[in-house]
Amino acid sequence: MGPNTLKSVIEAVSDAVIAHTDELTGLDQKIGDGDHGFNMKRGFEAVLADLPAITDLAVGPALKKAGMTLVMKVGGASGPLYGTLFMALGDALPEDPQRGDYVAAFAAAIDAVKARGKAEAGQKTMLDVLIPVHQVLADGAKGAAVREAASAAAQATIPMQATRGRASFLGERSIGHMDPGARSSEIIITTVLNVLEAEQ
Ligand code: ADP
Ligand code: MG
Repeated sequence: MGPNTLKSVIEAVSDAVIAHTDELTGLDQKIGDGDHGFNMKRGFEAVLADLPAITDLAVGPALKKAGMTLVMKVGGASGPLYGTLFMALGDALPEDPQRGDYVAAFAAAIDAVKARGKAEAGQKTMLDVLIPVHQVLADGAKGAAVREAASAAAQATIPMQATRGRASFLGERSIGHMDPGARSSEIIITTVLNVLEAEQ
């Protein structure tokens, strides 16, 4: 990924997250405290403000820097978790990464999120999108197939009962609503794929 593509990806992801502020807030109002949209908006606005410094770097260090910005600027549980995801992704990438390197780094980043949040698959969190999407990528899926997997995985959080994060306080009442962090992960993944496809 060249510097222009990196800039396009980070810009598009930030814009997409910010554009979905109200939707993410609405989801978090149902099973949380209603701040997920605002938390993510604040974090990605800070990433956009830092864009020149971030895109001056190679892809690994750039993602690490973006992750550090998210940790510092995003409140709630999602800030440290998304921050950890991007920092670990950046840390795990070699210089001039190829497709397989991205997939391997994504696995390392998911492990870091699991460790940070003491969470696993099936607990109605962002991991319930990240893990299945990594799986289809590792199986060789591309473009539309990956987007469909992300969307299906976010939908699949609706019938789950939350056993991690704020939504777990609701017990069975968390059933029947999409997890806000699963939806924000879907938005981020879909946007990355859209940009990479458009740039090819
Ligand atoms: P908070 O829950 O502190 O208000 P946010 O509303 O910004 O923070 O983010 C909530 C989202 O964070 C949830 O929808 C879920 O996807 C994710 N989340 C919460 N706790 C965990 C955890 N331990 N591991 C992974 N993801 C988590
Ligand atoms: Mg919240």
